[in-house]
Amino acid sequence: VVTLELGRRPEILIAERERAMAGSTTVSYTENLRKYLDLPQNGSIQAEYIWIDGNNGVRCKTRTLTKKPDNVEELPEWNFDGSSTGQAPGEDSDIYLRPVAVYPDPFRRGDNILVLCECWNSDGVPNKFNYRHDCAKLMEAHKDQVPWFGLEQEYTLFDELDQPFGWPRGGFPGPQGPYYCGVGTGKVYCRDIVEAHYRACLYAGIKISGINAEVLPSQWEYQVGPCEGIEMGDQLWMSRFLLHRVAEEFGVKISFHPKPIKGDWNGSGLHTNVSTAAMRAPGGMKYIEDAIEKLAKRHKEHIAVYGDDNTMRLTGKHETGNIEQFSYGVADRGSSIRIPRSVAKEGYGYFEDRRPASNACPYQITGIMIETICGSLEQ
Ligand code: ADP
Ligand code: MN
Ligand code: MN
Ligand code: MN
Ligand code: MN
Repeated sequence: VVTLELGRRPEILIAERERAMAGSTTVSYTENLRKYLDLPQNGSIQAEYIWIDGNNGVRCKTRTLTKKPDNVEELPEWNFDGSSTGQAPGEDSDIYLRPVAVYPDPFRRGDNILVLCECWNSDGVPNKFNYRHDCAKLMEAHKDQVPWFGLEQEYTLFDELDQPFGWPRGGFPGPQGPYYCGVGTGKVYCRDIVEAHYRACLYAGIKISGINAEVLPSQWEYQVGPCEGIEMGDQLWMSRFLLHRVAEEFGVKISFHPKPIKGDWNGSGLHTNVSTAAMRAPGGMKYIEDAIEKLAKRHKEHIAVYGDDNTMRLTGKHETGNIEQFSYGVADRGSSIRIPRSVAKEGYGYFEDRRPASNACPYQITGIMIETICGSLEQ
């Protein structure tokens, strides 16, 4: 029987989720496991090395350290098999992991750590998918402008049958309207995952600035920022790792696809809020306008790195601008660039680039943004 009513009974959803957890190869956090996690570590530290693969996904593996490092420079380089992650050919498969940032580990707690890494080839050049390297150079070159970013990461939760979580089997929920910032059964799903991720981010030192339920049922958003320079990409990638990792424990999948459901359903974006020191000072509107003028001239170059399948999302409908055309406006959610009403009123602050898709790489977005508004490395 296909039910088109919104919201299956909570006990059915819970039963489904428990089945998914039981069937998953990952741990479910039972009392049984807790017993082992409470065992002393005898001075050893577990370091989870995390990197970005060839498919915009995250990978990780753990090693034991004999001592807690005081800083990232003390962490050893490591390596992995790049032919298994789409990052290297089989005959030259060793990829090196160079630690770039360290965070407290909310899963293992104690002195255990998460280690974000850059990927380098054996011949000493950055791996093809290492977008951090160039981004860091641009941020370093323009650090006198003190660029700040705030990213709004939207995503959708899927169940083990690859259906949006909580949607009626073989059917659709009621039309959009009650879900955005919704409260109550049948309006929001998996608030437990959202809360767990929020707290895990805070524990790890991620500058998560908020969360909200989104327009599509089972779609959520969290924001990270403001972050300065290269820290933006580092923090967003770590927050994505934490989200996948938390959801794994609940038997639920995270989709960063920009148009998870075709049709009259909102897509997912990665709105990028930007400011420089000059924009944040009184009279800063002039610098915001200068930046928008430069952005208008490089629309295609920006779109090229603003995520895959973004054509499905940037249709000019569902609170987006059209992918073919650059536009901007005050408080206009149908444009490429939005100047918040409060910023226009005060005459300084920041602007929002609404074009990036939810699956875009934050190093590529913030890198090209700085290149366009502050100048390339050659200048
Ligand atoms: P929206 O109104 O578009 O939904 P959000 O409140 O979801 O915006 O997100 C705004 C983001 O912009 C937050 O991450 C916030 O930290 C960030 N932000 C605020 N001020 C600045 C600034 N001056 N420069 C860059 N980012 C900023
Ligand atoms: Mn091995
Ligand atoms: Mn938002
Ligand atoms: Mn949003
Ligand atoms: Mn926004």
